Amino acid sequence: MRAAIVIGMALGAEAFSARRAPMTMKTAAKSSYKITLLPGDGIGPEITQATVGVLDALSKKTGVTFEFDEADIGGIAVDNHNDPFPAETLAKCQSADSVLLACIGGYKWDNNPRELRPESGLLKMRGSMGLFANLRPAKVIPQLIEASTLKPEVLEGVDIMVVRELTGDVYFGKPKGIEERNGERVGFDNMIYSESEIVRISKVAFDVAKARGSKVVSIDKANVLDVSQLWREVVTTTQQEYAPDVELSHMYVDNAAMQLIRWPKQFDTIVCGNIFGDILSDEASMLVGSLGMLPSASLGDPSSPGVFEPCHGSAPDIAGEDKANPLAMILSAAMMLKYDLSQPELSDMLEEAVESVLDSGIRTPDIAAEGQTPVGCKEMGEAVAKAIEKMPAPVTA
Ligand code: NAD
Repeated sequence: MRAAIVIGMALGAEAFSARRAPMTMKTAAKSSYKITLLPGDGIGPEITQATVGVLDALSKKTGVTFEFDEADIGGIAVDNHNDPFPAETLAKCQSADSVLLACIGGYKWDNNPRELRPESGLLKMRGSMGLFANLRPAKVIPQLIEASTLKPEVLEGVDIMVVRELTGDVYFGKPKGIEERNGERVGFDNMIYSESEIVRISKVAFDVAKARGSKVVSIDKANVLDVSQLWREVVTTTQQEYAPDVELSHMYVDNAAMQLIRWPKQFDTIVCGNIFGDILSDEASMLVGSLGMLPSASLGDPSSPGVFEPCHGSAPDIAGEDKANPLAMILSAAMMLKYDLSQPELSDMLEEAVESVLDSGIRTPDIAAEGQTPVGCKEMGEAVAKAIEKMPAPVTA
């Protein structure tokens, strides 16, 4: 059953440590860690509280302590600092062992100018912390297969890792803007990748794939875009030189969007640029049933902290109603323990606690099947904490 628990974190961890190991400058496991929490907006504070409760339970059980510090990001940071990712938040992130981010955004800031929009805070964080690789697993959870809108036979055995480039592409390319041309306004952005950026993310994908099914599908739109032609060429030469044992194929993004729904089992590791990855990783998420179950890791240089965050947004439609599913953030904390804090046993304990809670039928509304009475965010967090309390203390703690 252990292997069944979703989310492919185990595979992801092995995969990424395979890449990071030679370059890693992380310290060995410690007995105390500084974690910067970025609760952000919407359901962010609720799911953060639930996650802190779970980490506290883990701390009591194992003796490993977590010192939490909070900082603003997103809409709340705009309100408090007139900046969606203020300098003091960056400083707190950089001085921590790791960063746990909830989510940002909300109707209140939707009409703000771009530099004062919550999303700009995420982009600024990724850029200033050098977080260039985003790993998003989509592994079907047997306990939740009925919660998906797709047929069980399409979903059984699906286990995909989307490796998305995070600091380049049309989101960061210049020039960009809206200006007057020939008597009307035009909006423009610049889709741009350098060879070195493509090589760097391709290598991550090939390393990830080596620890999985050794199959990479690279996504582009090379039939139309010059930047995609370069992408395809550089991914191909990187594979030949760096990972000749990994099977590489290429797929146009429109076809990939279709294939992910038609027959997702064909994919093992997907590598894509920022905007295609943004869209396809959300699509892949829905194979699993709910965004509320999906963790992610954003990583840069191994010597600096990674940022661990759920894939979902701030869910303003349910914010403050105790309806949010905190499991994606709790599982993001499990990824953090494994990737950033050299505590794989504690990470396993967290995953096992989540699994036992799902096995016992406890569900938040987003993952509840017919006939199941859902619990709230707080109760779900408490259930995971209780499951940890019931576990034997690990020998290594
Ligand atoms: P969303 O992910 O917030 O919500 C989409 C749907 O999924 C909603 O129905 C929501 O209720 C549900 N949902 C999301 N997370 C859930 C959870 N943990 N438990 C239960 N249900 C959950 O996406 P959206 O509605 O497109 O965006 C809302 C805001 O979030 C926007 O301002 C957007 O810019 C922002 N956003 C932020 C991030 C991030 O913080 N990384 C990512 C995506 C969107």
